[in-house]
This record gives sequence, structure tokens and C-alpha cells, in this order.
Amino acid sequence: MRNNRIWARILGVEKTVVEGVEFDDDTGGVVVSVRPTLRARSRCGVCRRRCPGYDGGAGRRRWRALDAGLTTVVIEAWAPRVVCREHGVVVAHVPWARHGAGHTRRFDETIAWLATHCSKSAVCELMQVAWRTVGSIVDRVWADTERTFDRFAGLRRIGIDEISYKKGHKYLTVVVDHDSGRLVWAAEGRNADTLRGFFDLLGSERCAQITHVTADAAPWIANVVTERCPEAVRCADPFHVVAWATAAVDKVRRGAWNRARAKALPRKQFGTRGRPPAGTGNAPDPHRERAIVVKKSRWALLKNPENLTGKQAGTLLLIELEDPTLHRAYLLKESLRLVFQMRHEDAIVALNRWIGWARRCRIPEFVALQRSIVTHQDSILAAIEHGLSNGRIESVNTKIRLITRVAFGFRSPDALIALAMLGLGGHPPQLPGRNHPRR
Ligand SMILES: [Zn+2]
Repeated sequence: MRNNRIWARILGVEKTVVEGVEFDDDTGGVVVSVRPTLRARSRCGVCRRRCPGYDGGAGRRRWRALDAGLTTVVIEAWAPRVVCREHGVVVAHVPWARHGAGHTRRFDETIAWLATHCSKSAVCELMQVAWRTVGSIVDRVWADTERTFDRFAGLRRIGIDEISYKKGHKYLTVVVDHDSGRLVWAAEGRNADTLRGFFDLLGSERCAQITHVTADAAPWIANVVTERCPEAVRCADPFHVVAWATAAVDKVRRGAWNRARAKALPRKQFGTRGRPPAGTGNAPDPHRERAIVVKKSRWALLKNPENLTGKQAGTLLLIELEDPTLHRAYLLKESLRLVFQMRHEDAIVALNRWIGWARRCRIPEFVALQRSIVTHQDSILAAIEHGLSNGRIESVNTKIRLITRVAFGFRSPDALIALAMLGLGGHPPQLPGRNHPRR
């Protein structure tokens, strides 16, 4: 096999002729000069239709390819322009890269796979790219993937949610398919118009096929759903109801901590140096100890009990001894969470009992929560009746929130949406050249 054919194989390029390979002394990398095969030449970069040539464009161009071992590799070729009937004067299509991209397809695909599997720093370090570049790559890979399938096929039961990003300054509206557990759609913003964008895309025929919609208590979601899917059963999103309870526990915890801290003796009565006078320094201060226990109890109180570490379980026991009110708040949160794991008939009874308990609990945060639960009682029970109370909703929600944190630093929300869709949309990126079974 001739060297040039070996290089074509290494690069994994199709419809491409390798003309030569040389070292670039400036960058220390390999430069592979290529040209498209005759059939792949003179095509519009957007629609790939065959078009007449226009001019030489910006001359020679380079695309970064996957490294060969420890050596960087770039592809170099002419990038002429053509005149397309539909798209006007555009840079001609090249078989090895997406239109307008500075990286080869294989490079793009590898980055997309890594971005959905690894940490931000691992991707950037391994591939030697900036995180913003990863954002643009993920964006164009998703645009290509999206075209290959119908993401609204068979959509019946959906969940609508709003998710904050950029530290709570901006929001995405997302739609999840409850039956497949996939993320179906996401867009920037959180208002009725954003959500209408989804239903417009879905079309009236498919709107009519939607049978169940879960959402948090936001009135704008309820209004749009009533407007577009009047027949659908509206259910409370269990994830949000539990999140309300979790927020209430945290509020109670902060109050308990502030009270314990206020009662604790000031720490440095005798200066910082030297031994404190006998009988004053090491005397245990119960208020201080309680403040420390309460302060460190955040995760123990908020996590699901099955996920607690041994230490966190111990903290819970201490809370039970040190602060019975805070512990009661924790039990209220947990028992509300358990309601969603019950059968419908049992849940009706349990939710009623819970409301009675919360009304009399003398914890203002939970008395208030009890009022919201009463308001949304019907839609909460509807979620349980129709089996929309499973852990899957929580798991998708948690994953989306995780991605918004990872995607922090992308230039546009489009890249964040693309990463979320690639990771949770049911069509994950594949590593290039791995379509054969693993040996
Ligand atoms: Zn075109």
C-alpha cells in the first residue's frame, strides 16, 4: 500500500485523494495535503448539489484532524467557492469536514462523544481544544444528528420544565418524553411564547395525540397546555413537589442554625495566642455543638435516605437528638416523597394524612407547603394515578441540571441545548470507526 493510501486510511477520510504528507516545522505536526475526488468536487457546501465554480476562495485552508499518536495532524486543501442556485456564492463542500467547520468530521464526532461522557477538563486536556470550541462542535454535530430522525414520533406523555443556567440568570424550557425517558426539545427562555414554539413545531395533529402533561405549578405552562392540548390530563410534576419540600427543609435548617449560632458563646474571648485560663477554654458549649451539627447536616437532610453515606446517616441521628423540630421537618419531606412511590388508592389516603400532619406540625415552612399541596392535590394524585411518579422523571431532571453545569462557559445557549440533546435525546454520538462489534 502506498504511503498516501495509508494516510487516507489513518485519517478515515472518504471521497478524498491524499496528495502528499509533510512535517510542519513551525507546529511540529503533520500536514496532509488532500483534494476531493472528482465526483465530490464542485458541490455546494450547504446542499451538496453540483454547481459551477466561482473563484479560488481564500486559497489553501487547514482542518484539524485527530492526532496520530502524539503528533497533531492537519488536513490542507484548496477551498474554492461555487455558485449554488439556492445558496448563492458559497465555499465548496469538502468530504472530510462539515460546512464552515475548522475540524474534520472524525474530530467532531470524537469531541461530541467525549463531551457526553467526560468532564470538561478531560475533554479540553485530552483533545487540546478550548471549551468554547467544544460548544461549537457539539452544536453542529447535533444539527446533523437532528436531521436523521423524527424526535416527536409517538409522543404521548410529556413533561414540561424550566431549568436555570448561568447561575440562575437565564432559563431553558425543556420537554421530556415520559415513556422513553428522553429529552425531546429545549429552548432558551421561560414564557408562554417559548413553549408555543414547541407546540408549533409539534403541529396540531400531534398535539391532539398528547394524553398527559406534567409540569410544575407555573401558570404560563398551564395556560399554553390548555390552549394547545385541551384534552390532555394535566399532572403535577413529582420532581417539583418533592423539590418544594426539600427547599422547605433547607429553610428550617438555616433557621435552626442561626438560632443555635446566636446562643453559642463567642469563640475568642481570650485572644488567639497562649493557653486560655484554666476552666474556661475547653468547656463544651452545647449551643455551639448544635450549631455545628446543624450546619453540616445539609446533605444528610436533602439527599434520599438510600443514598446517604454512613457519616450522613450518623448526622441524621444527631439531628434527631439535637433538634427535634428540624428532624420533624425532615420526616415530613421524606413521607411526602414516599407518597409518590405508592399505589394510587394508598396515595390518596397517605396524602390526606400528610396534609393533616403538616397542618398541625407548627413549622411555618411546612404549614405553607401544605397549602400549596392542597391547591395541587388533584394534579398530584393524577400524576400518581397515571404512573407519572416514577424515578425516571427525577433522573432526567437531575441529568439535565448536571449538563447545564457542565456546559457553563459555552458561548451560546444553543451549544448547551445541543449537548443536552446529544446526551439525553436518545441518539448519543458514536465514536468514529467503531461500528463493528467490540473484539
Ligand atoms: Zn446549495
